[in-house]
Amino acid sequence: MRLETIILNRKVVRSDKILSVFSRELGKIVVVAPGCAKVPNRFGGAIEPLNYGISNIYRSVGGNFYLREYELKKPFWEIRRSLNRLESALFILSLVDKTSPLELPEPELFDTLLVFLDLIDSGGDPILLRYAVILKIFHFLGFLPSLDTCSSCSGKISKEAFVKGDTPILVCGNCAGEGTALKLTEGLNLLQEMRRKPLALCGRIKYTSRGLEEVITYLEMLLRGVLGGVGLEFSGSNI
Ligand SMILES: [Zn+2]
Repeated sequence: MRLETIILNRKVVRSDKILSVFSRELGKIVVVAPGCAKVPNRFGGAIEPLNYGISNIYRSVGGNFYLREYELKKPFWEIRRSLNRLESALFILSLVDKTSPLELPEPELFDTLLVFLDLIDSGGDPILLRYAVILKIFHFLGFLPSLDTCSSCSGKISKEAFVKGDTPILVCGNCAGEGTALKLTEGLNLLQEMRRKPLALCGRIKYTSRGLEEVITYLEMLLRGVLGGVGLEFSGSNI
C-alpha cells in the first residue's frame, strides 16, 4: 500500500532501519526498512526523520510493516539549515512519536503536522508555532483541558484563569482561592485564539511577550503532565 508519511524517528538495527512513521491513512506505525543502513542502499539517503514522502509498504504474515519503496516529496531543507527551526521540528516529531497510539488514524493531526513543517520551513516564527502545534496535538489526542470553562464551577472563563497545584486544568477567579501555581491573563486569550484558529493562521496571531510567556509556562506544565517525566529524545546525529 502507498501511504503519505512523515518520518518521526529511526533506529538502526544491524543493517536495517526501524522507522517510526506517521501516516495519514494509518496514524503512527513502525516500519522496517531492510538494508537501509548499508551504503549504498536502494533508498539512497532519503530515509531520515523529518522527511515527508510516499512510502510503499507491505505487511508481512507476522504482522510487521516493511518498506518496499520510498518517494521523497519534501526534505524541508530550510528547517535543516537553522538550529532553532530544526530543534522545534524534532521536538514536535518526538512529541507525536511519544503520544500517539499505534495504528490509530488521525488525519487532522497529520495535516496539522505537515502545515507546521511547511510553515517553519518557509520562515514562520518557530517558537509561536511550536507552542501552537503542541496545543493542537494535545487537542487532537484528547489531552487538552477546557480553555473556556472553569473545571470547578463550570462557569465561563474569559479574562483570566488560574492553575492550582500541579494539575494543568483551569479554574476561574472565584474558584482559585489561595496559592495558585499560575495566573493566565494575556496568555489566556492567546491560548483560546490558538485553539480556535487553524494552525495555518496561528503564525499571524499578534501577541505580547507576557502572553507568550504565560502560554509557554502553561503548555510546559501540560507537557510534563502528559509525558510524566518521559524525556523526548531526538533521533540520529546525521540529520
Ligand atoms: Zn469557577
